Amino acid sequence: MQATLESYEPIVGRQAIDELRFLAQRLQGRSVLHVNSTAVGGGVAEILNRLVPLMNELGIAARWEVIRGGDAFFQVTKKFHNALHGQPASLSLQDYRAYLETNTQNLKTLSLDADVLFIHDPQPAALIKARPQKGRWWVWRCHIDVSSPHAGVWGFLKKMIELYDATIFSAPQFAQRLATRQFLVAPSIDPLSEKNRELSEETIQPIMRKLNVPLDLPLVTQISRFDRLKDPMGVIEAFRLVRKATPCRLLLAGGSASDDPEGAQVLQEVRDRAQGDDDILILELPPNSPTEINAIQRASTVIVQKSIREGFGLTVSEALWKGKPVVASAVGGIPLQIAHKYSGLLCRSVEGAAFAVKQCLNNPAFAKRLGENGREQVRQNFLLTRHLKEYLLLMAALEHPEDVILL
Ligand code: UDP
Repeated sequence: MQATLESYEPIVGRQAIDELRFLAQRLQGRSVLHVNSTAVGGGVAEILNRLVPLMNELGIAARWEVIRGGDAFFQVTKKFHNALHGQPASLSLQDYRAYLETNTQNLKTLSLDADVLFIHDPQPAALIKARPQKGRWWVWRCHIDVSSPHAGVWGFLKKMIELYDATIFSAPQFAQRLATRQFLVAPSIDPLSEKNRELSEETIQPIMRKLNVPLDLPLVTQISRFDRLKDPMGVIEAFRLVRKATPCRLLLAGGSASDDPEGAQVLQEVRDRAQGDDDILILELPPNSPTEINAIQRASTVIVQKSIREGFGLTVSEALWKGKPVVASAVGGIPLQIAHKYSGLLCRSVEGAAFAVKQCLNNPAFAKRLGENGREQVRQNFLLTRHLKEYLLLMAALEHPEDVILL
């Protein structure tokens, strides 16, 4: 059974729950539709999975729809994704056409009747074409860092995005100058979800045995989709430096998202790189593996997230919430979550990552302190209840742009 709002009180306090109920009173009966491009895999699906039921519990008629697309569409949107993260890209006219065509097809099947439409990320951004016939307020919710995008792709998207009533970015440094209202809302994790709830050792141990992950050596783990921007190869290199001095084992665990066509190829490359090395375990997780991910994070000695580019980096929040020492690249939303040497360790290179992992392995008291501070940082800033509150505030602000008290 899914957790109700009241069950969050022991974690976030009475006041946070009362605030949500108070704000929701002003929004009773409103309808909300979230649209994204995958039902499982990746951070957006993770958040919507819980945000939508809680909105409903608060009297807001919230729904979630996923756009459909073929391989060609997701190839293009993956190129968009990489290009918006500033990677080189080559897109043809045909690519742009395939993108627009799929969005147009989706307009025929999606029911877009809602007061507020939250359109997540670039994949469904062109649904804005349905305006003004459908929806009252259109909000483009951007989960990625578009601060230094590929000019061509950004130019193409920007024209559509400026047709929205508002945009949301996860952090000021991710945003762009736009001729439309902007809001900043950091993502969040759900402390009561299957992925983050407390697990006892009696639950963790059999899961790790079933996954064939021995725990006789300290376990260094990265959990991510197999994506080049998550730098699994860099993690392997860093691990090999660490292991020279400190015995440990590496676990790279992840699955793929249905909107990411590159996953299988990257996974194969990673397997090739790790071949013959018994201390490197590569685990392909089924798309929906929250209990396994929870157990893996809790069984790990150190969690790594050595991304080259990152959105917010929910895997970091998940690991910090579990009180783990986290070594992560100073990219995307990670520096918002980790204050270096206080709530985790930031790194900027393979050598830096290796040094930081060694520090955690060799100094358990320091590692424990990092983990405790990290958990508190997440409790204060990155839990679902805060996220929900900001969505409610945003809805109120759309309806009452003059009402400064609400902001
Ligand atoms: N995740 C998952 N299965 C995987 C890999 C990741 O369920 O095989 C989850 C992970 O626990 C986190 C989210 O997907 O909740 C990834 O979010 P993040 O912001 O770290 O990265 P994204 O994949 O959105 O770039």
